[in-house]
Amino acid sequence: MLPFKLIYSDDYYLPIGSHVFPAEKYRCIHQRLLETGIAEPHDFLEPQPASDQDILLVHTPSYVHKLRTGTLSAREELEMEVPFSPELVRAFWLAAGGSILAAQHALTDRVAVNIGGGFHHAFPDHGEGFCMIHDVAVAIRRMQRDDKIRTAMTIDCDVHQGNGTAAIFAGTRVPTDPLPSVAGPTHGARPARLRNAHAGDVFTISLHQENNYPAWKPPSSIDVDLPDAIGDDDYLAWLDNALSSAFRQFEPDLICYVAGADPYREDQLGGLNLSIEGLKRRDELVFRAAHARDIPIMVTYAGGYARKVEDTVTIHSNTVLAAKEIFAKKS
Ligand SMILES: [Zn+2]
Repeated sequence: MLPFKLIYSDDYYLPIGSHVFPAEKYRCIHQRLLETGIAEPHDFLEPQPASDQDILLVHTPSYVHKLRTGTLSAREELEMEVPFSPELVRAFWLAAGGSILAAQHALTDRVAVNIGGGFHHAFPDHGEGFCMIHDVAVAIRRMQRDDKIRTAMTIDCDVHQGNGTAAIFAGTRVPTDPLPSVAGPTHGARPARLRNAHAGDVFTISLHQENNYPAWKPPSSIDVDLPDAIGDDDYLAWLDNALSSAFRQFEPDLICYVAGADPYREDQLGGLNLSIEGLKRRDELVFRAAHARDIPIMVTYAGGYARKVEDTVTIHSNTVLAAKEIFAKKS
């Protein structure tokens, strides 16, 4: 039995038909975790959908109304890049409920994994990039509303920048120059860039491929703009660097790790060059950072578009394995 909970529902499946987003991945991960013995049936908790009240902690009343009444404009539906249906609305409300449950259990068990969620391209007033509702932001705002946490840090390792996260938590940030102590590795002729800004009550970190969606990247507290085709060692050095810099500036009550599988070298929508093993080392690095500081961490899955769906499933399953290895140790 795992020393933490996995949040999952068969209804995480997104009814979007034939799509580059492998909507079946959640069911496959659930199955893989059981088949490999990484998890047992009673390690899983079934979430309830978030309430509209929870969703409204992040999203605007007019956007929520449009989703509830099916009155998005054609342009808004196009921007979301997934076909609207009431069933899809239910799946996103459920993912948000799952992230709330994961955040709650992270506070008691030090870590919890939502086998879904991570819809970091959703904005308060619109959805985009396959994301309708920002489940992670909803979970953070709900935990703050319940006085369970005061501050949070998002660590977004999806290959695409967390533009929704950055916009939602823009708060009182004031842009600053990169810290003089920041000196990361370089790749080829052009180094990756680390941009840094002061945070409000939620400190946002995004490590992403610069030359990729979204074209407009609103500033996170720390953005690491990675060049194309960066490999395991350079990526991990940049991540380590960003985490060290972040924890020098900010002590969160909760970490929200967005563990996208799409920095993988075989990803159809990514242009980085990480191996499956490198992605597991990435997860270990993030978990070790949380564990060493005794900060609760909740995990969501975000993107993953490997040519072979089983690779995406392996990468996401390895995230649970990495948590098991790090958090099995006595703190
Ligand atoms: Zn992505």
